[in-house]
Amino acid sequence: MNSENQVRVRFAPSPTGYLHVGNVRTALFNWLWARHFNGSFILRIEDTDAERSKAQYEKQLMEDLRWLGLEWNEGVDCGGSYGPYRQSDRYEIYQKYAQQLLEEDKAFRCFCSEEELENHRRQRLASGETARYSGKCRHLSAAELDARLRSNTPFTLRLRVRPGTVGFSDLVFGRVEIETVQISDPVLLRSDGSPTYNFCCVIDDFLMKITHVIRGDGHLSNTHRQILIYEALSAPIPEFAHLSTILGPDGQKLSKRHGATSIEEFHRQGYLPEALANYLALLGWSSPNEGQEVMSLDEIAQQFDLSRIIKHPAIFDNVKLDWMNRTYIIKTNGNDLVDDAGEFFAEAGLVPAKLEPDVRSWLAQAIDLTKTHVDHLDQLPREAGIVYGFEKDPPELDADAREALGNPDGKAVAMEFMRLALEKESLSPESYREIVAQVKANTRQKGRNLFHPIRAALTGRGSGPDLERLIPLFETGSRLNLPRKVMSCRERLQAILGAELHELN
Ligand code: GLU
Repeated sequence: MNSENQVRVRFAPSPTGYLHVGNVRTALFNWLWARHFNGSFILRIEDTDAERSKAQYEKQLMEDLRWLGLEWNEGVDCGGSYGPYRQSDRYEIYQKYAQQLLEEDKAFRCFCSEEELENHRRQRLASGETARYSGKCRHLSAAELDARLRSNTPFTLRLRVRPGTVGFSDLVFGRVEIETVQISDPVLLRSDGSPTYNFCCVIDDFLMKITHVIRGDGHLSNTHRQILIYEALSAPIPEFAHLSTILGPDGQKLSKRHGATSIEEFHRQGYLPEALANYLALLGWSSPNEGQEVMSLDEIAQQFDLSRIIKHPAIFDNVKLDWMNRTYIIKTNGNDLVDDAGEFFAEAGLVPAKLEPDVRSWLAQAIDLTKTHVDHLDQLPREAGIVYGFEKDPPELDADAREALGNPDGKAVAMEFMRLALEKESLSPESYREIVAQVKANTRQKGRNLFHPIRAALTGRGSGPDLERLIPLFETGSRLNLPRKVMSCRERLQAILGAELHELN
């Protein structure tokens, strides 16, 4: 822990592609750990790979993190006391520390050419040994060094690795120790002077006073090298927690084959950020309250503890994610869903792109009424189809509705309902109840025999949302100027029962 005793963690993505669930789970666990202690969450951009790093990815990853609710305390856009936070803006800092290590003889210049290193590597592999640097330039004499510098021979800067063992107690994987001879003297600066990931990472984590490094287990083997660099700098060594790779249900590394993997894709498909974040938190971590799964990020942060992270890989389960999303959709008010869901309705040509207040509030009610069976928001327009007009004229009835209207008793109920309804300007839940009572008295039908034909006559379907809530949506919707027409109750009854009406007249 640093002198202020404050937890400081960082998420350090390389902006070389879209954020996928693995990276984001790492960001989330860092954020939760910081939140748990009221500490700081730092966003550092690791763009040392100049060719593959793109400003567009940097922008998108910040949008994705914000969308999920993972705000950072320090970073490229908001600054902080330990900036700059983009590695390409920190080259002078790396050069300064490289120079210091060289002067202290903790690092040395290696003049071996690529070709030489490659030949050596091949020889070792051929004789069944692990590939390792020969150590050839570790102990050049002053004269040898001088000659190479004079002839401008290119060199890399390597850390002079000490003998013995190096290890650390990973908060997830436990004690991991190795003999340092297994490590080649790591390169700190390449021959063009550019710093390597391991070097930048240590300098940054040191200067940014990072207390816990929480990252993917792909970096476990880098950690030994990094610890040796900390030692050389006489810098405090942070705690480490490595997270296992997330696998698909088939046990293979999660990839495109398993469906959406980038956060932006999940966003586009209508997953709610709260649901996705909640689901991701359960990939490798679980609440101490057994069985508690649906939780807000703040609740999770309160309970979050690195010691509860499992070592074996978590499986990404789309079915469970859909269940989680459905749970959040059901418990979220239509007014809070309407902005995100509105985009899908607009795409389907059901509402204008810009929602005026009256359309907005009508749509929010339509969503509330039809959202119970959707897994993600992009399925809402299909479900909400019931509130719009009929696609065909005469309307196509489902089998249940045909059955309800196809027998004389059912037809009599529907016709009586229409006769009374057409006497009114429009229907309200109250007038609907009154009319139903009259139909009941006049036809002597009740229960299903009464309600089924009425539903069929208004919706063309045998089942669906509560009619008392649908009716006001039909009526108010029909007065809105929408790209696809909503039919009033009157229009619906006439469209469905129109043929019979002619017969009656
Ligand atoms: N830029 C590295 C990555 O995206 C970060 C590794 C680390 O957290 O140290 O894998």
